Amino acid sequence: MTTDSSPLVSAEVFKRWALECGFDRAGVGELAPSAHGDSLREWLSAGRHAGMRYMERKMEERLDGSRIFPGARSVLCVALQYAPMEDAEGSGDLWPGVARYARGDDYHETMIGRLALLEERIQEALPDAITRRYVDTGPVLERELAARAGLGAVGKNTNLLHPEGGSYFLLGEIFTSLELAPDVPLADMCGSCTACLEACPTDAFVAPYQLDSRRCISYWNIEHRGPFPLPARKWVEEWVFGCDVCQEVCPWNAEPTPAREASFAIPERRRHLGLVDILRLSRDDYVEIFRRSPIKRAKLAGLKRNATVVMGNRRRREYVPALSDLLFLEEEPVLRGHAAWALGRIGGEEARTALSKALTEEADGGVLEELEGALAGLSGGRAEPTVG
Ligand code: SF4
Ligand code: SF4
Repeated sequence: MTTDSSPLVSAEVFKRWALECGFDRAGVGELAPSAHGDSLREWLSAGRHAGMRYMERKMEERLDGSRIFPGARSVLCVALQYAPMEDAEGSGDLWPGVARYARGDDYHETMIGRLALLEERIQEALPDAITRRYVDTGPVLERELAARAGLGAVGKNTNLLHPEGGSYFLLGEIFTSLELAPDVPLADMCGSCTACLEACPTDAFVAPYQLDSRRCISYWNIEHRGPFPLPARKWVEEWVFGCDVCQEVCPWNAEPTPAREASFAIPERRRHLGLVDILRLSRDDYVEIFRRSPIKRAKLAGLKRNATVVMGNRRRREYVPALSDLLFLEEEPVLRGHAAWALGRIGGEEARTALSKALTEEADGGVLEELEGALAGLSGGRAEPTVG
């Protein structure tokens, strides 16, 4: 008979099972109160979580993993590489603007499936053990727990770094009532490097290890709903969904362990998508083409909004017809307004003609303001509207 306090299976066996279930690395972390509670509270009270209010909830559990359920003693943390993938680029001009983790199918399903297998294996061997799995869905400080479990050291870009895995990997956890021997955390891996802090296009790092989400591209083009304030339109540069800049420049990502999971590659039905295709997507096509894609988090309206902004930042004339169609055919005023802004940034006679015609037909006050701003900018007058 197995008891929770005297397991017959050692931590090493759990970690081997995790690898057999398809994870790249595994480690055990101690369940003790967070060492960073004060920093997290300060970060939240300074509003650096932007509109992500869910981060304020369930703070007691978040800051102490042993509260996840009564009797929780240890956490088995796992890591799965999502990049680099062979042939991961895609041919459409959408893909350079999509963060690597979002190019394939939603990682939650893959991670949860493998964690469920691992849980089953634990339950078979130790039927009295209580287990609970998480993948980025509960009040869990995943990164800190994984660091305790030796799966990486937190970098100045706030990502977890691993000597072989770089930072392109996902995290999952199984909390358990079993008392397992914890792993040893890794030492700092950044040293005097500041590459990520210097490369961030929006200066989103207020200090090493401290990110202000209100300036982070990934917040704006994934989490934010509604129109982009004017500064955010330029901040997102050419990123349609997420941003990888502070990971791309990290020396630990020069040659990380390649991802093996085929569903993380861009599927054929999305591989050739360009920004123009995004603007022309019907709801039915969107549902079919983006089935199982993490990009759905932005919703169709958010994806189209992001695409118009990237078009405006790329300033390519080839985008003018699709943007003009959006100006006249789109029901959503936010999208008509962003199309006007993008046309104003691209300029040229065709864009000016579309903007002038829309000005005579448009009824929405916010869109009219965008149109006037875009036309004024083209005429060398008031540069842009002051939305937001
Ligand atoms: Fe800066 Fe992009 Fe990193 Fe956000 S994801 S901190 S915008 S480099
Ligand atoms: Fe650390 Fe340099 Fe990587 Fe930033 S780029 S996380 S400072 S090693």
